[in-house]
Amino acid sequence: MVKGWIDKAKGWLGSSVDWTGHCLLCNLPSHWPLLCDDCRLALQQSQSRCQGCAAPLPPWLPDEQRLCGRCQRRPPPWQRLQVVGDYQAPWPVLVPRFKYARQTMLAPVLARLLADHLDLAAPPEVIVPVPLHWWRRLRRGFNQSQLLAVELSALTGIPVDGRLLRRIRHTPQQASLTAGARRRNLKGAFEVAAHRYRHVALLDDVVTTGATAGQLTRLLLKSGVERVDVWALCRTQRHLS
Ligand SMILES: [Zn+2]
Ligand SMILES: [Zn+2]
Repeated sequence: MVKGWIDKAKGWLGSSVDWTGHCLLCNLPSHWPLLCDDCRLALQQSQSRCQGCAAPLPPWLPDEQRLCGRCQRRPPPWQRLQVVGDYQAPWPVLVPRFKYARQTMLAPVLARLLADHLDLAAPPEVIVPVPLHWWRRLRRGFNQSQLLAVELSALTGIPVDGRLLRRIRHTPQQASLTAGARRRNLKGAFEVAAHRYRHVALLDDVVTTGATAGQLTRLLLKSGVERVDVWALCRTQRHLS
């Protein structure tokens, strides 16, 4: 049984991956490629979330009340934010491995988690990864959102457009800045290529403050897109601004 899964996962991930049939997170024998059922459940967490900021909401709320109080008062520029989980254990183990330790073989696993989770009742025409500035991409060796987008596209059949958005200016890390400074920091940092899309899904790995996703959403809306959804693996628990 486990042997069958191992062969399947190897075929799926390519022969270059040396997977032993043990979960990448807890090292117990795994029936689901690369992650065991328990770790996968820990990653997926609550499925009942605010459509604006993805904060967990009580599951008994009716569909028309899928916005938290904060998002009702100040709706975000995007139509809907969907994430797999909050940035709490075991996400802080998995995401840095993917992003900084160059474990790019995690991309199909993470994309599968997202694909299993997304509500695609109104699918976008295209998946657009959040761009990295060229020199950061050069230093890291890849753009993690682009890798995720390609894998997600293979699973959902929705095409990827990695050229729609371009980061034309390198910006300092956002983490230490206030909300206003963050918005100023991002001004003029991106440009949108000519296009005819009306419904776009922006894909990022982690949504922290929402400043980057917000800026890109506003640019896309200005360029003629009518609806922007934001998809990410997880969100940090601070309020989006
Ligand atoms: Zn596990
Ligand atoms: Zn909200």
